Amino acid sequence: MTNLKIGNGFDVHAFEQGRDLILGGVKIPHEKGLAGHSDADVLTHAIIDSLLSPANLGDIGKLFPDTDPSFKNISSILLLEKVYEKLTTAGYKIINIDSVIICDKPKIAPYTELMKEKLTAAMKKEVLPEDIGIKGKTTERLGFTGRGEGIAVYTVSLISTNKKF
Ligand code: MG
Repeated sequence: MTNLKIGNGFDVHAFEQGRDLILGGVKIPHEKGLAGHSDADVLTHAIIDSLLSPANLGDIGKLFPDTDPSFKNISSILLLEKVYEKLTTAGYKIINIDSVIICDKPKIAPYTELMKEKLTAAMKKEVLPEDIGIKGKTTERLGFTGRGEGIAVYTVSLISTNKKF
């Protein structure tokens, strides 16, 4: 019998001058990037947490602590590759991943297909682009996302296992 588990992930990073903006492994032209120990890919971080949590495999901070210099400026796509390996080794399959990227700028829509390609590649192309949802949402100039101070991402994922629990 197949069992399904749902997971949610959330992350926020602040904008910082002089850094690249990386979302879903894609470098997006923008006046600022995001601050963080890794490449600060806030989308990939939220996805990682949405996958680890329902599989009872911890969370991104536990697996890749920001006190560890080996993760300095690391591509978060590489972290997703490691997480996918852990998940599949533990017997889980990913049914779908759905994310909303919250920011007024930059516009997200032109880059979502490219992000899906990068994310799919990080998961051995076993999770298809059509099973990955990504959409941008503005907050109508309200709050820290509306003021252009940072980006927030919410993600839900559905995973399955044959394991009994
Ligand atoms: Mg993060």
